[in-house]
Amino acid sequence: MSILKNIDPEIYEFMESELVRQTDHLEMIASENFTYPAVMEAMGSIFTNKYAEGYPNKRYYGGCEFADKVEQLAIDRACKLFQCKFANVQPNSGSQANQGVYQALLKPFDKILGMDLSHGGHLTHGSKVSSSGKTYSSFFYGVDENGIINYNKVREIAHIVKPKMIICGASAYPREIDFAKFREIADEVGAFLFADIAHIAGLIVANEHVSPFPHCDIVSTTTHKTLRGPRGGLIMTNSEEIAKKVNSAIFPGIQGGPLIHVIAAKAVGFAENLKPQWNEYAKNVKANAKVLSNILIKRGYNVVSGGTDNHLVLVSFLGLEFSGKDADEALGDSGITINRNTVPNENRSPFVTSGIRIGSPALTARGMKAKEFEIIAGKIADVLDNINDKKLHLKIKNEMKKLASNFVIYDKATY
Ligand SMILES: *Cc1c(COP(=O)(O)O)cnc(C)c1O
Repeated sequence: MSILKNIDPEIYEFMESELVRQTDHLEMIASENFTYPAVMEAMGSIFTNKYAEGYPNKRYYGGCEFADKVEQLAIDRACKLFQCKFANVQPNSGSQANQGVYQALLKPFDKILGMDLSHGGHLTHGSKVSSSGKTYSSFFYGVDENGIINYNKVREIAHIVKPKMIICGASAYPREIDFAKFREIADEVGAFLFADIAHIAGLIVANEHVSPFPHCDIVSTTTHKTLRGPRGGLIMTNSEEIAKKVNSAIFPGIQGGPLIHVIAAKAVGFAENLKPQWNEYAKNVKANAKVLSNILIKRGYNVVSGGTDNHLVLVSFLGLEFSGKDADEALGDSGITINRNTVPNENRSPFVTSGIRIGSPALTARGMKAKEFEIIAGKIADVLDNINDKKLHLKIKNEMKKLASNFVIYDKATY
């Protein structure tokens, strides 16, 4: 870092400030995590210089002998990790992985059926503001008034719509996803079944959530959420025919040269996921989310669906005087970073919302356990109980900074 400090002190200063921010605040955004120093080292490596359009041993550029080794190792580790036959490790992000999936299996205007964004789905599952909703005819299913996917309703919609593809997987759904049930429905209407496991992949590889295999035709994920690797995407399948289509859809379909430095970092991350300690981490992620949920319920808050099976808790403020935005700001002032989120039966705009989403992966990565999550959940409830008490927020902010200082994640001298 000392090189950067001299060459570009402005950027260096922002990086230093960001390190302090990540260290002093309690990071509870459900889609974020703290990756490994070894992953960051690979990401910042010499491979950023290399063009390697194509795939291992089938490149359009010379000098790819080591890039080939890196990408093949990443592919092999991904297949071992998810117990599948084919993997494409080139998608630059989760959104581009999904775009690749659609490009591989659909034609413009084909019908897709995904989970409604306001019910916990993702923009790329057919939302009108995303290319997925502009290119394909998108239809949606959602959750019932208890916040749980009603599979009978999904079946009903699927039979009416007759989609070419059903998308399962979500960004703000606290319950387990029943891939076998989705398979039944997809079979009844002759649709491809696509699982987007961006949020839960880290739990799946530890057997802490059911696997989308063998039920789904195609699976995408991010590598930076519960998987704790570098920012990126990944597509997997057991079908050779689909794998071929995916490869041409990613390159030359929607991307150019692969980010070999990030692919190297993905391989390093997968190796961490394959270690026995990973299962312990995933177990703790779930246990800690349960502690959060139990305490918020005990303190009288409306936890959507009545609890959690995974790494996140969704809290609804419908019927209360404050919004998700108010809670987001008050918790931010208290040193706790979460995000506002729409909830079932939402009646506010997506910018304001009536809920918040709280996740356990990042603080669990710092080594926090049930004891710390109990304290933090209590403080979250204190803030919500006293949403306008700025003095209290400041006091809690200092307490949270002190708590955080006992769980060092990155050594300042190294970053
Ligand atoms: C986060 C997420 C994505 C997109 O990932 P990006 O890397 O941000 O593009 C896609 N699908 C789901 C379900 C997600 O939660």
